[in-house]
Amino acid sequence: MGDPSFWESAGTPAETGEQYDLVVVGGGISGLAAAHFFRKSAGESSRILVLDNHDDLGGHAKRNEFQAGRRLLLGYGGTYAIESPAPYSRVARGLVEELGIDVSQWKRVDDPLIYASRGLGRAVFFDKETFGADRLLLDPRPTRREDQEDFALSADAARQFVEAAPLSGAAKKDFLRLYQEKKDYLPGLPSAEKKARLARLPYSEFLSKIVGVDPQVVRFFGPAPHPLFGLGIDAVSAQDAWGLGLPGFAGMALEPGPGPGMNRDAIPNKEADEYFFHFPDGNASIARLLVRRLIPAAIPGQSADDVVTARADYARLDDPASPVRLRLNSTAVRVVHAGEPAGSKSVSITYSRGGKLYTVTGAKCILACWNFVIPFICPTLPDKQKEALSYEAKVPIVYTNVAVRNWQAFIKLGAHSIYAPGSYHSYVGLDQPVSIGDYRCSESPDEPVVIHMMRTPCSPGLPARDQHRAGRASLLAASFETFERNIREQLARMLGPGGFDPARDIAAITVNRWPHGYAYEYNSLFDRFWLEGGAQPCEVARRRFGRIAIANADAAAYAYTDAAIDQAWRAVDEITQT
Ligand SMILES: Cc1cc2nc3c(=O)[nH]c(=O)nc-3n(C[C@H](O)[C@H](O)[C@H](O)COP(=O)(O)OP(=O)(O)OC[C@H]3O[C@@H](n4cnc5c(N)ncnc54)[C@H](O)[C@@H]3O)c2cc1C
Repeated sequence: MGDPSFWESAGTPAETGEQYDLVVVGGGISGLAAAHFFRKSAGESSRILVLDNHDDLGGHAKRNEFQAGRRLLLGYGGTYAIESPAPYSRVARGLVEELGIDVSQWKRVDDPLIYASRGLGRAVFFDKETFGADRLLLDPRPTRREDQEDFALSADAARQFVEAAPLSGAAKKDFLRLYQEKKDYLPGLPSAEKKARLARLPYSEFLSKIVGVDPQVVRFFGPAPHPLFGLGIDAVSAQDAWGLGLPGFAGMALEPGPGPGMNRDAIPNKEADEYFFHFPDGNASIARLLVRRLIPAAIPGQSADDVVTARADYARLDDPASPVRLRLNSTAVRVVHAGEPAGSKSVSITYSRGGKLYTVTGAKCILACWNFVIPFICPTLPDKQKEALSYEAKVPIVYTNVAVRNWQAFIKLGAHSIYAPGSYHSYVGLDQPVSIGDYRCSESPDEPVVIHMMRTPCSPGLPARDQHRAGRASLLAASFETFERNIREQLARMLGPGGFDPARDIAAITVNRWPHGYAYEYNSLFDRFWLEGGAQPCEVARRRFGRIAIANADAAAYAYTDAAIDQAWRAVDEITQT
């Protein structure tokens, strides 16, 4: 797009003659929400086109379907749930409610007893390459959600765990010390100063240099922050580790409440924790509900319950008779005003589809794609804004879903989820048991189920954004065969002692690889402005440019659905004032 040879080989775009009140680039939750908000403001008959490069709607909010015999199994290929470290805004809550989702019904549809009544808990898998032996042990460590106030690990439970763990004698002692000695490792400093120091110190260094634990203990905690940060403990501050409930801080007298530069993910918030809802396909149900509002013929049904099993009619998404159209497999490559931005009356959007270029016109345009893409497709933006947009480095992540014929091995091993600090996928677990509408979760260990696995391709030692770039390159280079071999081997080694046989038990595998995953969230170890309270690049990056506004979660530097919605609202508000 920014490369002249692209335009030489692509040829002249075909003018479609299509004119819209709004063209949205990006069919994720932000783009779909922008279309929805714009339509509410401009009227039901306003003509809107949403372009997305993928072959499915929803962006990160992605649905996986499996057919296991006659049974439909759903999984989340991306966005897991309605959840956010900070409470949803009035706008984001309002949209959730408008779509008919009643978050207070979560306890009705969730059935944790399916696992709890069978005595299943969390486990840790030690692998022989990292720890000298393959061993699966039940994990006695409390999680933050289970116990907000106190992360203490009972002495007996800790002793039993380390005795059985394949750790050296020194590592066993240090593991116990880490949980049990209540020592102030920064004595003589007030709490605020301690937090400021911890904000600049990687947790790995806190463990190795300040607490002085054995390297095996550091390796054990290495991937602990992967699910939230997409980074290991080398690139997560000790202050954030404290917020996440990782050990070592019990004797440090840190006052409750965030210190400078603390990541929102690490700040406990009860109100936010209580606003939670998970559909079997994650927030793909939100995307599908939005599409149902915009293009009713494409997704039949009436409620947030029946959307779970509704069959989408993809042929209806881009229907010329509909005022709102969603065009998939269409990558926007150039977005420019007709004439000078200040006095312009329209925006010309060129996109590539099936190897050909096409142009449509919008009276307005919202870029709900990714920040780093925008300078390439919108070359006339001011340089300062392009620079701010390019600061974004999305977090690569892999969500693998494996449909298996039954979950007897988990019963035999007593685990529903496994932390695997040295393995290809660092977190593995049985799908969350949720039944909504006509969809029934797997209720018996003899029934098929989805195993969810998470991998974060990190390069420890590099700054966060460089780790993300390197991880992205590695994900793009990996073949499906590489993933499959690792998945089969990991499951065999973890679950084999419970009778699991990958050749017999695996029915299907879907690897959802996200080279451009979470929005980059500022990090007190690497982003000085975040620690010191300066202007954030995302504030400059999201400025309106004539008839073009910028939505998407990157615009808030916050990797959550509510950010995608809030930014859509802001972008629509800005664009309707032009
Ligand atoms: C694996 C994963 C799990 C997550 N889990 C949660 C969770 O549990 N809860 C939560 O709140 N948030 C979660 N998030 C974050 C949340 O999914 C995002 O914040 C939100 O969905 C982002 O929406 P968006 O519309 O801004 O971006 P996206 O969903 O990325 O949508 C942008 C779309 O624009 C498209 N696009 C980009 N460039 C172009 C172009 N040139 N032309 C056309 N289309 C283009 C992209 O392909 C994409 O489809 C998760 C994210 C990931 C990756």
